[in-house]
Amino acid sequence: MSTIYDKYETVIGLEVHAQLMTKSKAYSSDRNEYGSTPNTNVSVVTLGHPGTLPKYNKQGINFAVKMGLACESTITKEMIFARKNYFYPDLPKGYQITQDETPICTGGFIQIKDENGNARQIELTRIHLEEDAGKSIHDLDPFNSLIDLNRAGVPLIEIVSEPQIKSSQEAYDYVSEVRKLVRYLDICDGNMEEGSLRCDANVSVMLKGAKVFGNRTEVKNMNSMRNVQKAIDFEVKRQIDLLEQGEIIKMETRSFNAANGSTISMRSKEAANDYRFFPEPDLQPLQVTAEYVEKIKEVMPPLPNQLFKKYTEELNLSEYDALVLTENKEEALYFEAVIKNTSNYKSASNWVTVNIKSYLNEKAIEIDEFEVEPKKIGELIQLIDDNKISNSVASQKVFPLLIETPSKSPLSIAEANNWIQNSDEGAIEELINKALSKFPEKVEEYKSGKKGLLGLFMGEVMKLSQGKADPKLTNQKLREILDK
Ligand code: ADP
Ligand code: MG
Repeated sequence: MSTIYDKYETVIGLEVHAQLMTKSKAYSSDRNEYGSTPNTNVSVVTLGHPGTLPKYNKQGINFAVKMGLACESTITKEMIFARKNYFYPDLPKGYQITQDETPICTGGFIQIKDENGNARQIELTRIHLEEDAGKSIHDLDPFNSLIDLNRAGVPLIEIVSEPQIKSSQEAYDYVSEVRKLVRYLDICDGNMEEGSLRCDANVSVMLKGAKVFGNRTEVKNMNSMRNVQKAIDFEVKRQIDLLEQGEIIKMETRSFNAANGSTISMRSKEAANDYRFFPEPDLQPLQVTAEYVEKIKEVMPPLPNQLFKKYTEELNLSEYDALVLTENKEEALYFEAVIKNTSNYKSASNWVTVNIKSYLNEKAIEIDEFEVEPKKIGELIQLIDDNKISNSVASQKVFPLLIETPSKSPLSIAEANNWIQNSDEGAIEELINKALSKFPEKVEEYKSGKKGLLGLFMGEVMKLSQGKADPKLTNQKLREILDK
């Protein structure tokens, strides 16, 4: 049954702020560190004392170019910075240094999947450099607001999308893609709870097929990806309900309330600040040369989409496996190291995404705390492929011991415990004949059609070999001998 909500389509544009993990702040040598004692990373530059001057942070510029390259944006060759003026207690200078008309990157895209699972590119308007404001804390002291200026001047990039996102699910996927990218690039930790990745959602609705976008609202203060999705869902419903009652949507900034999943009005766009942007007089125009960009290209790490393509197209892994392997950079790099030591990619993928992953989950640790070297996993796979040990001996016996004693090799563990299986054809045939001679009637029954007896014979051979006969080979030889 269709409802009023089906008459409308949703239009979303996202502005994502990512705090850059530089050593020092955007324009001063103050430390850029989350969690320091409040107001300790503040020098006269951060405080905006008269006579102090900002200085470019090369690492921050490098990080912004990396993000631009990862998104296939155009890198601006010559740019200026701009002052965005407004008063707020956590903004000691009275302005932020940002970029207005010459953002460091323009165009490019973030790739997500549409509802049918096909790749879809959300175009970017721009990526620009900006500095963060300090932090006002309203809920620690019952009478006063507190201010921590450690965050003031921390470098940010703001990634602005075109209004091409069509649902809260796509918005969720977009933010997770951005987070994955900044983590792969090692330029931001992507932690939404701590605010190092923040997202403002611009949301509007219009009748399906309409040419003109509806009025939008901008929702802020979502501290997780789920909350981005929730805030958009709430906002879409609120806007449609208003339109259906004949009301118009006010252009305004709204704040998400995580406690009840709603949004409330913060300020209207008409009353919006006039930021009086003007070129920052204390900074020279900045040039990013083609050579500089080339140098960065040379040291770009592998990116999730490239790895995904490699895994599905070159290694013939399933899309699901490729997705799980690329979800997290450290795990992808671990897998990359494993496949340097084996060309059984499917098995390597299983070891990383199933055996290792469940161990990590069980221990609640990350892969960089996992002590078994990727090379050893490659050796383990080789032992299985050489029929030296079975898959189950590898995963249930050798693997746990390997974790306990990561300095040992899988082969030495299997040998020391007498787990190397017997793959000597002659020896296995001998065991089979011995086993069959114990059950002459059963052999006759088998030959007259009771094929289910194979299990009995298998079991006997395994017993005689003390569990070390190669099961695959045994099974094959048994059939050969019985069907002769
Ligand atoms: P502002 O300067 O007010 O932030 P911008 O033009 O820079 O406005 O747009 C900010 C974001 O709003 C962009 O991500 C853009 O895609 C998005 N946006 C613009 N118009 C709409 C709309 N009608 N509905 C949804 N999002 C929109
Ligand atoms: Mg905005």
